[in-house]
Amino acid sequence: MIVDEFSLKHPDNRHRRRSSRILPLDPSDPIFIQVERLFSKGWRHRQKIRPVVQRVFKILSSDESLEAYAIHKSQVQAFNLLSRYKKGANEQLCFHGTRRSCALGDDSNQVFLCNSTECSLCCIIRGSFDVAKCGTVNSFKRFGSGIYTTSCSSKADDYYSAGRSRQQHPRNLRVLLLNRVVVGKPHNRRHNATHMNQPPSGYHSVVGLPGVDLNYEETVVYRNDAIRPAYLVVYGPQSSMEQPVEVQSDVLLPPPSINQKSLARNASKAHALLSALFTTPLAV
Ligand SMILES: [Zn+2]
Repeated sequence: MIVDEFSLKHPDNRHRRRSSRILPLDPSDPIFIQVERLFSKGWRHRQKIRPVVQRVFKILSSDESLEAYAIHKSQVQAFNLLSRYKKGANEQLCFHGTRRSCALGDDSNQVFLCNSTECSLCCIIRGSFDVAKCGTVNSFKRFGSGIYTTSCSSKADDYYSAGRSRQQHPRNLRVLLLNRVVVGKPHNRRHNATHMNQPPSGYHSVVGLPGVDLNYEETVVYRNDAIRPAYLVVYGPQSSMEQPVEVQSDVLLPPPSINQKSLARNASKAHALLSALFTTPLAV
């Protein structure tokens, strides 16, 4: 059984490179546009210059892994239906920054996972998140032992690192994971609670709200099956954009025409696609 469009066996993913787990999306793809929009909207640190999304890869998983996520999602949905919580599974797309010890995503040919146990990025893409590894990279656990994500891309960026190998990435490219998260009914907190290892009874996640102990939102889940990596976002400073080949011409060419109608059509197509993909509102 093919669980969903992130399945390795889904027909849409057939053209991936043999044995690769990530699939590059074309910049004109409505999903690429929507991911880029989430990244830009989520860049909230005013003191950090907003980078440019250069590549988006779709992350593919085994049906076994996707099925465990789907089961958890439907259980949360059923629980919330009974308790009359209107948002159901409340599935959201949230960012997570981690350690990358290899060159995955640096260009569209770098699509093979490395085997280093130091490379948290490849470990997560290969086997999803593991709550037992919480605190491996960052020892401070604001809301205890959970899996930390955020709608704030500039915050997730703080947790990206190039690992011990200090791999030199061309054009200072960095990466973030954008993940599907079953937020369910969130327990909202403004104060730290480092002792937690599960949400309070009746809740499915903890959401840290800015204002007291936090400056930016974070969403924590405490079960491995409440989250799956969905997209790998590769970004870098404006100056890192690959330059198009210059066309030498003595003739003054007219500016390229931008078809506004087609851009609008693409945007609404992206919205429709993601709405179909995620039955609940996206994190903003
Ligand atoms: Zn790696």
